[in-house]
Amino acid sequence: MLSLYIHIPFCIKKCLYCGFYSTTYSVSDADQYLSGLQIEAAGNKHDFLKTVFSTIYFGGGTPTVLHPDQLTRLIRIIRNEFRTAADAEFTVESNPNTATSEKLDLLLEQGVNRLSLGTQSFSDAILATLGRIHSAQEAADAFSRARRAGFNNIGVDLIYGIPGQTMQLWEESLDTVMGLKPEHVSAYSLSLDEGSQFYCMAESRKLALPDDEIVAQMYERAVAKLRGAGYDQYELSNFSLPGFDCRHNMNYWERGEYLGLGPGAWSFISGRRYANIADNREYSHRLSEGWKAVDIEEIVTPESAARETLLLGLRTTKGLDLDRFERDFGRDHRLQIELNAGPLRDAGLLRAAGGRLWLTERGTLLSDEVLKRLSL
Ligand code: SF4
Repeated sequence: MLSLYIHIPFCIKKCLYCGFYSTTYSVSDADQYLSGLQIEAAGNKHDFLKTVFSTIYFGGGTPTVLHPDQLTRLIRIIRNEFRTAADAEFTVESNPNTATSEKLDLLLEQGVNRLSLGTQSFSDAILATLGRIHSAQEAADAFSRARRAGFNNIGVDLIYGIPGQTMQLWEESLDTVMGLKPEHVSAYSLSLDEGSQFYCMAESRKLALPDDEIVAQMYERAVAKLRGAGYDQYELSNFSLPGFDCRHNMNYWERGEYLGLGPGAWSFISGRRYANIADNREYSHRLSEGWKAVDIEEIVTPESAARETLLLGLRTTKGLDLDRFERDFGRDHRLQIELNAGPLRDAGLLRAAGGRLWLTERGTLLSDEVLKRLSL
């Protein structure tokens, strides 16, 4: 399966925890970006002539910050240059206050069939701490607008482990989400990404994070509540109603191939992983001069491929398929994993059955440590 990812590197304002590449939106910068993207897409067309993409994902940044005409232009570029399956999953990320009725209608008309709404929390105090530009009510309103517009596959994102976030506030956010009944929920613990303001604040000890025990309890509470409400936990941090797993993300976790376009976008094709320069002006300039936008490139060795397969496979509730792992990476690697897994199974952190290996519930809570001890 091959996926197509488009990075739209614009936001209204940078959130304090965000380490993704994005810059402040302006009409002219976005026009310049689209010109670059047109060249990059056309330049890739030949290599992917026979490829039918199974999923398309517009991420960022905030794709819906684009003007409606720019969104239309972007979708036209993709439709003109690439072939997509008739049943392709087509996701667009959105921020509550850029998800206007006009843009939602436009996205649906253009074949977008999945909306990922960045809500993060339903507490105004916590949203302010994160530096988000919307209120809890505005997030709920955006969700209702998307439903009314006709989206029947909506994912919402939540973050826990935020400074000042109590268990009560976290539970209130979870309850609000369950009241909205999205098809998909992602619940991530706050990560301190390099390049974010939170990262700098943590480095200078100006960020008061909740302690690990509370964060672990928040995770357990999320799992219990979401499972109780009928969501299947198909990955450590991702939950869906039956039939609504995110196919695009599943492809990442299964180490499927993907083509990424736009500044800062990563691709993984034929064992080669590469990323475009994370600078919109430089990206557009290079492409307009007839140069490539690729800035970083790495060949994935069989050892690192085996390690990635292990780490990603264990994150999903399907677990790691040991027979397939052996076919791909050899018997020695399988034996090494089984050897490393022994003490973790004895400690109740891993479970093995039917040629597969899973994290147990306890193992899920200590997943970083388990993956480190299991790693090749
Ligand atoms: S978290 Fe999302 S909305 Fe906030 S700055 Fe990052 S990409 Fe933009």
